[in-house]
Amino acid sequence: MRNFEKSKEAYEKAVDLIPGGVNSPVRAFNSVDVPPIFMESGKGSKITDIDGNDYIDYVLSWGPLILGHADERVVLALKETAEKGTSFGASTIQENKLAELIIDRVPSIEMVRMVNSGTEATMSALRVARGYTGRNKILKFEGNYHGHGDSLLIKAGSGVATLGLPDSPGVPESIAENTITVPYNDIESVRYVFSEYGDDIAAVIAEPVSGNMGVVPPTQNFLHDLRTITEDNGALLIFDEVMTGFRVGYNCAQGHFGVTPDITCLGKVIGGGLPVGAYGGKREIIESVAPTGSIYQAGTLSGNPLAMTAGFETLNALSEASYEAINEKVDKLVEGYKQASIDFDIPLQINRAGSMVGFFFTHEPVINFETAQNANVDYFSQYYGAMIEEGIFLPPSQFEGVFLSTAHTDEDIDQTIEAVRKAFSKIKN
Ligand code: PMP
Repeated sequence: MRNFEKSKEAYEKAVDLIPGGVNSPVRAFNSVDVPPIFMESGKGSKITDIDGNDYIDYVLSWGPLILGHADERVVLALKETAEKGTSFGASTIQENKLAELIIDRVPSIEMVRMVNSGTEATMSALRVARGYTGRNKILKFEGNYHGHGDSLLIKAGSGVATLGLPDSPGVPESIAENTITVPYNDIESVRYVFSEYGDDIAAVIAEPVSGNMGVVPPTQNFLHDLRTITEDNGALLIFDEVMTGFRVGYNCAQGHFGVTPDITCLGKVIGGGLPVGAYGGKREIIESVAPTGSIYQAGTLSGNPLAMTAGFETLNALSEASYEAINEKVDKLVEGYKQASIDFDIPLQINRAGSMVGFFFTHEPVINFETAQNANVDYFSQYYGAMIEEGIFLPPSQFEGVFLSTAHTDEDIDQTIEAVRKAFSKIKN
């Protein structure tokens, strides 16, 4: 049995200092029978906790670390940048470099504004959409998580789905009533909402692949239909690519599916493990932001040189071939899970987009929030505990996807599949 004494001690202290001992709820390991683990270090695909336990990491800081931990190119560039000063409150060349790269790779982005988190990106994108269209209502999908902004913390996924809190106290009803939610992948409901409220809807915001109720890809034509409906009704289409951006493919989910939104939100990978978000889109829309336009949005540390450096080095290290290489590893991992589910008679649905993979313990296909809820959380908890014992670090919730990096090796995958087989063999009804 692994020893978590130091983690337990650190957690006991933390709960007295920080709500729930954590600075983001999913880290509290609420849905599994494992104590919150405190990490010490990471290199490549591996991480080590403060008790000295090693793991192959499939969390990757919840997506950002597509090159794995402490990639030498990123670390070296960060050291060089840090030695020159960490923030100026004035422009730096690093901001241009990351912006150019993003504009080059993301089909919809002609101009981009940097912020500090995914939450900030989506909040800002909504303000722009409302300011630009002069409309107030937003359409979002159940189980899609877009950060914790007031307008978006309504039928959200991620920690909110895990904790079973469909809404949060503190979100005023007057704000919530401007957010309309419908099931993901349900285009008829979208059409209905537009027939009722079409003239009031500023934007539809969607995760082009849902990653916050587990992984749920769009059904065929869903994204195309969203594009057509928004265009026909004078509403903007916002893709929240905070998770999918530079993860699902070299040109993000929009490149992969061939659908171009008006505004794209980014985060995670574009910060390479440092706090970054961004929103961008058509020049005409993004220029409506201050100081060129009248829609206000700002940030003391936005475009921070360290964050820009980590993001630039990360994106710069990625080629189309990098994605193919990761995808091959994912193919092998998925095959291993499938075989294990057959051999040990464990119900399993596998949803995938590039190197974003969701495993659900259910016989039923998972296409939206409701079907995701069919997954057996008790099986998940047993599996999770067994995987931790085997040295595999996974997101501690059924409703989160796993991620791979360029640093994951064939040996990592073999070892993981071995662990899955052991874990599945122990699952009891
Ligand atoms: N949008 C999506 C799709 C996300 O997955 C997340 C975070 N998991 C966010 C927005 C919020 O980003 P952050 O946690 O950086 O505020």
